Formats: sequence, structure tokens, C-alpha cells
Amino acid sequence: MSAPLNTRERLTEVRYEIRGELARRARDLEAQGRSLIKLNIGNPGAFGFRAPEHLQRAIADHIHATDPYTHQQGLPVAREAIAAHHVARGSASVSPERVFVGNGVSELIDIALRALLNPGDEVLVPSPDYPLWSAATILNDGRPVFYQCKAENGFLPDPDALEALVSPRTRAIVLINPNNPTGAVYPRALLERIVAVAARHGLLLLCDEIYDGITYDDAVFEPIAPIAGEVPCVSFGGLSKVHRACGWRVGWAVLSGDEPRSRGFRNAMDLLGALRLCANVPGQFAIEAALTGADTITPLCRPGGRLYEARRAVIEACAASRHLSLVAPAGALYAFPGIEGALAPGFDDHAFALDLMDSEGVLVVPGNSFNVPYRNHFRVTLLPEPAQLRDVFARIERVLDRRLGE
Ligand code: PLP
Repeated sequence: MSAPLNTRERLTEVRYEIRGELARRARDLEAQGRSLIKLNIGNPGAFGFRAPEHLQRAIADHIHATDPYTHQQGLPVAREAIAAHHVARGSASVSPERVFVGNGVSELIDIALRALLNPGDEVLVPSPDYPLWSAATILNDGRPVFYQCKAENGFLPDPDALEALVSPRTRAIVLINPNNPTGAVYPRALLERIVAVAARHGLLLLCDEIYDGITYDDAVFEPIAPIAGEVPCVSFGGLSKVHRACGWRVGWAVLSGDEPRSRGFRNAMDLLGALRLCANVPGQFAIEAALTGADTITPLCRPGGRLYEARRAVIEACAASRHLSLVAPAGALYAFPGIEGALAPGFDDHAFALDLMDSEGVLVVPGNSFNVPYRNHFRVTLLPEPAQLRDVFARIERVLDRRLGE
């Protein structure tokens, strides 16, 4: 027999367990007839959410015009709407030439890191992270250096500790705000301190703001670009979450700050965009409607709204639990509970998640999948109906009673 086909060696360093081994096992169980509650993916459409009608209409109205390739950076009308949205938010340096539309933020994260990194360059990535950020850093020959966002600090980073990790090889700081998986929303004063670190060390800010409209109670989302001013910054947003249209694969990356300094980086993004020709065209016709039409996400995040009530159900279940602690998510679509008493040697979040699926039919993501140095957390999405989340947490409690004692 011939030798197995070659694969890229650095893939062994990459983890994406949100769709990994546990998700594969879930599919096997479903093929055998088991019914599972799958809380592993922030996929609004899988929980009955639909993209707003005015976005669907915008695509339908233009379907006749979706055959050709577009410009590699995206449809002009879409880029103009994105640029206007950012200028209105206070980023005066944004223009359509500095906007890139991609097949979801996922593609643009990869393109941005590929445009930026040389072998051995370092990127400061939050821990917990959304694991695409560390994966894309590794696959573009860089090295993720994790800064800790600790539960005892509301999962917010400490800017001094972050700055202590800067080395001569550091090129960028990644921020995820509102955060996946923790739900942390970064206050303005903290963003100002992180911008100051980037300014002192000449670093690019890479700000994943895909959950920008999803905040609860009195949390306020602050876009970082207006605070960053002349500091070069790429802000990422899209239709997947705020507009519940993740299957359309529409995201954007917006470059702001000192234009001469970031011109080479802009041109590199443009070249990489050209190599993949253009992003999926139909979804691009929904961008202008999304950014200028009715706000359909805020009502879901206010008392009585589906996401607000789902979050309330999780907060109450964790408060009533004998085993769980929770930093209440201030934004985004997830909760990241900690398992108290689970730091005893031998507790393993992966084994817990496997047990939960096998015994109770619930799929969650083990916390360690988000590149944290501990094994006593898990992530659930807030997308199910509140009643289903109450049922899920009753099942979780049964498993923890059995594993940890009542
Ligand atoms: N960034 C974060 C923080 C996410 O949670 C996700 C998806 O869950 C993405 C990026 C990818 O989004 P898109 O659907 O635009 O590729």
C-alpha cells in the first residue's frame, strides 16, 4: 500500500472542538435514533430564528443581479453602507476602499492574519478565545500568545498583564467584544487602556465585533475603532448573529486609523481577496438593508424578549445549582458556567460533556476547547427556548450530582 497522503503538520496544533469529536459522536447517536439537544453551535436558524424579512426581500429583489462575480472587496453598494455605518459610529477614517466583504467573518479572520503575519510573528489572543483566532494564527505561521480573561475579573482582561506579554515579535492584539464564549462586554475605560498598549508598541488591533448589537440589561457595546483613532484597527462584523443569517455567509472587515501606515496591509488584504475572486454575492444585497433598516435584535435582548428570557433562565438555574457558578453574560449568545468543586484532580470537562450527552442527551462544548488552562467550565448557547434551557440545566444538575456528589 502507498503511504498515506500528506497533511499540513501544523494542523496537529489546531483545535476546533465546537464541531469536533463530541459533535461527530452526536451525529452517530442521532443516526442510531437518539434525540439530542445540541447547544454547541451559535446557529440561530437551528433554533427557529429567521433572518428579518426586509433582508430576505432585499436578496429576492436582486436575485437577477447575483450571477456575476463582484469586486474582490465586495459590492460597492454594500461597502458604502458599511463605511457609512462606521463613519456614523465615529470612525471618520473609514471609506469604502477600506471595507472588505467576505464569506462570513471566518474567512476575513484568515485573510487578515495571512496579510499580516510572517513566520514566528506573535498575536495576543484572549483566553478563553473563539478558537478560530488561534487556529488561523497558527495556520498562517504565527504563534498565539494567550492573555488571560479571568472569571474573578468578570472575564475582562488586565491590560497590564496583556502588555507584559508584548515581545519584539508581537504584531497584533485580538479582542472579542461582546465575547464568545464568556459574554463579557468591555467597558470604554478598558478599551482605552488596550488601545494605549497597541499605540505604545505599534500593534494592529483586530476587533471581532460580530455580536455588536447583542447586549443585556445596562451593558453598552462600545466599538473600539472610534476610541482607537489613528491606531490601525480592523473591526469585524456581519449578518450571522445580530441579523440571524449565518447560512448566508456574509461578514465584513473594516480598516480604520492611520492611512499611510496601513496602506500596505490594505493592499495585502485586497490581493488575498482577489485570489479568491469575491464573496458569495446574493447575501451582499442584504447588507444595506441590514444596516439602514429596522433594529430587529434589540427587542430580543430586552425583558420579555426571547434571548433575554433564555439568559434569565440560565442565570436562575446556575444560581439554584449546587455545583455551578456563572458570570452573567452581559452580551453575545452564550453562557460559560464554571463547575465548583470540579478542580479536584481527575475532573475532566470533556469526560463530563461526553457523560452529559450519553446519559442525558445534551451536547455542550467543554470549556477547555476555548484554550483555557483549566477544565471546569462549559459553554451553552442562549438560543433555545427558555423552557428548554431550564430542562437542560436540570439534566446537567443530575449528572453533576452523580459525578461530584449531592
Ligand atoms: N467570531 C466569533 C466570535 C464567532 O462566535 C463566530 C461564529 O460563531 C465567528 C466569528 C464566525 O462568524 P461568521 O458566521 O461571520 O463566519
